[in-house]
Amino acid sequence: MIEKAVAGFEAAFGYEPLGVWSAPGRANLIGEHTDYNEGFVLPFGIDKRTYVALSPREDATCRVSSDIDGKTYETDLTTIPTDIDWALYPLGVAWVIREWAKGGFDAFFVSDVPVGSGLSSSAAIECAIGIALNEIWDAGRTKQEIALLGQKAENQVVGAPTGMMDQTASMLAEADSAVFLDCQSLEAKSIPLNLEPRNLVVAVMDTQVAHRHSDGGYRVRRESCERGAKTMGVSSLRGLSVEDLPRAQSELSDVDFRRVRHIVTENQRVLDSIRALAAGDMKQFGELLLASHDSMAHDFEISIEELDLAVEVAMRTGAVGSRMTGGGFGGAAIAVIDKGLLPALEENCKSAFAAKGYGEPKVFAVVPSEGARKER
Ligand code: ADP
Ligand code: MG
Repeated sequence: MIEKAVAGFEAAFGYEPLGVWSAPGRANLIGEHTDYNEGFVLPFGIDKRTYVALSPREDATCRVSSDIDGKTYETDLTTIPTDIDWALYPLGVAWVIREWAKGGFDAFFVSDVPVGSGLSSSAAIECAIGIALNEIWDAGRTKQEIALLGQKAENQVVGAPTGMMDQTASMLAEADSAVFLDCQSLEAKSIPLNLEPRNLVVAVMDTQVAHRHSDGGYRVRRESCERGAKTMGVSSLRGLSVEDLPRAQSELSDVDFRRVRHIVTENQRVLDSIRALAAGDMKQFGELLLASHDSMAHDFEISIEELDLAVEVAMRTGAVGSRMTGGGFGGAAIAVIDKGLLPALEENCKSAFAAKGYGEPKVFAVVPSEGARKER
């Protein structure tokens, strides 16, 4: 991939890039839609990454190109064109951090992060360019600061009202570990997963149903959460615990109550997961994953039939636990499963999807990997 990024850069711009940087996509183990409610999340970086070959320019021109569509998009950062497709992500980050700029840049992207699958191809692209620009413009920002700037780009330029989980995972991830992030204090802690010694892997079952974050479903969920917090007299749903749920039920509409119940119980499940992982209690961890899926399917209502089927097939195949991951309305589910059961999982998913007339899913293992870094 590094060679591919360099070769692409040379073909697009006609000279050698200064360096290559990369950032991973992420899978979330547990803690869904809790980030923008100042709650807890537990994602990890995956072994699929976006690479950017990049060189600074002395003039103010910023050019981005990729092997995605073979096009080159250009701006001087005084304005951001809107009809530029994927280029909105990297140029959005450059626009957000334009006050650090010491000139422009040329950048070429290659990626093997599946797009629109809930594995955050968007954060991978934002964090790859973020860490690269931080270095060439000597901005001296921490990884966590870069993550928040990536989120700002996604919120303000792309227009997707997402939380900071994706970018934080992509920046702070470590090998064999998950990132336990408190989205209120922004305190992050690495949690060793010890999957390898247990012969376990995290399998991704990508339904191939593409989601779109900026679409209505996500926004409406967010509004329910905000309304719920306001009615309950807290600044965010983080201010509520399981004991507050009876009062929430009496004060909120049925729909808003169920949205709130998902967030409140999901935060508790993340904390319980940390404890289960520390104690090596994989059975309890698996049960928490399933309870999380159930809560997303029935209370938050962001699952789809394909995701429910993937979870059901994973459990039938012998997974420790399984749940949809990411924003929902499509994308992927994960399963924690014995390495030896991967081929059976793939076969069972494909035949179950075919029997229902769904498109063929992609099933693959992901390895918890290091966050954004300079490659050369
Ligand atoms: P996710 O982050 O879950 O993959 P998003 O909808 O947040 O889904 O981001 C997907 C968008 O990111 C795509 O529509 C595209 O504009 C952009 N993108 C990021 N990486 C790539 C890539 N390698 N190829 C094409 N588009 C990409
Ligand atoms: Mg995304």
